[in-house]
Amino acid sequence: MKYNSTRNRSVSVSAAQAIAQGISADGGLFVPESLPQYSYEDLCKLKEMTYQGRAQRILSDFLTDFTQPEIEESVREAYSPNKFGGEHPAPLALQQNGDKNMYVLELWHGPTCAFKDMALQILPHLLTKSMSKVSGGKKAVILVATSGDTGKAALEGFRDVAGTEIMVFYPQDGVSPMQERQMNTQEGGNVHVCAIQGNFDDAQTGVKKIFTDPACGQKLAEHNMMFSSANSINWGRLLPQIVYYFSAYCDLMGTGEMDYEGEKVNIVVPTGNFGNILAAYYAMKMGLPVNKLICASNENNVLTDFIRTGVYNKNRPFHTTSSPSMDILVSSNLERLLYDMTGGNDALVASWMKSLNDAGVYTVNAEVKAKMDELFYGGYCDEQGTKAAIKEMFETENYLIDPHTAVAVNVYQQYLQETGDLETPAIIASTASPYKFAASVLEALTGERGQGSEFDKVAELSALTGTQIPQPIADLQQKPLRFAQVCNIAGMEMAVLGTLGIQ
Ligand SMILES: *Cc1c(COP(=O)(O)O)cnc(C)c1O
Repeated sequence: MKYNSTRNRSVSVSAAQAIAQGISADGGLFVPESLPQYSYEDLCKLKEMTYQGRAQRILSDFLTDFTQPEIEESVREAYSPNKFGGEHPAPLALQQNGDKNMYVLELWHGPTCAFKDMALQILPHLLTKSMSKVSGGKKAVILVATSGDTGKAALEGFRDVAGTEIMVFYPQDGVSPMQERQMNTQEGGNVHVCAIQGNFDDAQTGVKKIFTDPACGQKLAEHNMMFSSANSINWGRLLPQIVYYFSAYCDLMGTGEMDYEGEKVNIVVPTGNFGNILAAYYAMKMGLPVNKLICASNENNVLTDFIRTGVYNKNRPFHTTSSPSMDILVSSNLERLLYDMTGGNDALVASWMKSLNDAGVYTVNAEVKAKMDELFYGGYCDEQGTKAAIKEMFETENYLIDPHTAVAVNVYQQYLQETGDLETPAIIASTASPYKFAASVLEALTGERGQGSEFDKVAELSALTGTQIPQPIADLQQKPLRFAQVCNIAGMEMAVLGTLGIQ
C-alpha cells in the first residue's frame, strides 16, 4: 500500500515514510492510494475478535511494509487493559430506548481521559518503527499544536520513548485549567511544553511553517534529527481511529441491534480538525454500512456552513467556548475528504487550499457538493444548547457527558427533528470525560461553576452526580508544575531550536 500527497498525486511513499514524515513536502497530506474493502463476512469475523484483534486486522491492511509482529506489538502495548482501565478500550455505554436508538461510544478511557489517546497511545510505536525503517536512526522531533487534548495525549504517548523529543504549543487562554495543568505537570525526560500568545489556528499555522521551513529542516538534519508530527494530519493518527468505528458496529452486531446484512448506522461526531469524522468516512468507504455522518460543531460553525453551502469561509469571528477542542476555524483533515471526493484531483485540491491560504475562503464544485449532501449532515449548537444537552442527558438518562459530547447530542437531536429518522441507530462519539471540564459541567447541571480550585470542582461534580473521578485526574493534584514558558507566534521557531540546543 502506497500513500500519495493530496497536492501532488505523483508523490508515492510507503506507510513508514508517510508516518515518519507526517506531512508531504508540498504541504499536502498523505492519503492511501486505495482503501481495502470489508465484506459482510469480514465484519462477521471482526465481530468475534477482541478490540486488539480488530485493530491488528485493520492496521495490517494499511501498513503493508510493517511485519505482523511489529503491528501486534504496537497494538498490544497501546491498548493494554492497564492503560485503558479495562479489556475494552472503546466500549459502547448508553443505549436510549423509547423514541431513539442512541449508543454512546466512550473513547475516553485512556490515560488522559480524551479520545486522542485512542491514536496517540499507538502512534509512538508506529512512528519509532517507521523511523527505523526509513530514516536510519535519526531522532524524531515531534512538534504538536494543540487546542487542549492532543497536547497532553501526545506528551503521555511519547514520554521517554527512545529516539524522540516532543514539544507542545497551546494557546495561552484557549485551554481549560485542567487541560493546562495536565500538560504543565507532564513527566518525562524528552517532553517540552510552551504556551503561545495566540489561538489554536495560530499555533497550528506556526507549527506547519516550522515543519516546511527548509532552513530549519537543514539545521535539524545537521544534528541527526528530523521533524515529525503527532497532529491529526499524521496518517499514523488517523488510521487507528478507523478501528473504533468498525469495532462499535461489530459490538452492535453482537448485541443483536444490527441484525441483517448491510443495516446502516448514523455516526455523530463532535468535530474540530475533521480527523475523527474523516476516520468514520474512511470506514464507510471500506464497507461499513453508514447512513449519515453527522458533523457537529460548536459556535465555531465553519463546517456547518461548509456542509450546507459548499463555501468554506474562515473569515469570521473566533469564539472561545466550553468545548475548546473544537474551537477551530481551519479543519486540516478536510483536505483529505476533498481529495477523495474529487477522485484524487490534486491540482484542484491544491488550488482550493491556496485560496484558503490567500483569501481564507474557497468554494467546492457541484460534484463534491452533491457527494457531501448525500452523506453528511452538518449542524452546530451554541453554549446554551451545550449546557441543556448535559443537563437533559443527566436528568433523563442519569448519564454524565462532557461539553464536546453534548454538542454532538444536541446536533443529533436537531437531526432527528429535521429528518424524523428514528429508525437508524446512531453511534455518538463521546470524546472526553466530563471530569476534564468540571466547571462547565457543573454550570450546566446547577447554574454555578463550583467553588475553589479545579480539584474542588472535580470533587463537587463527583458528589453531586455519584459518578467516579477517573484515576488520571485524581492523580494530577499531587504532581508538581514543570513548565511555564510562554512565547509569541513569531518566536515559535526559536523556542524549538532553543529547546533542542541547536540555534
Ligand atoms: C480533538 C477533540 C475533538 C475534535 O476532534 P477532531 O478529530 O479534531 O475533529 C472533539 N472533542 C474532543 C474532546 C477532542 O479532544
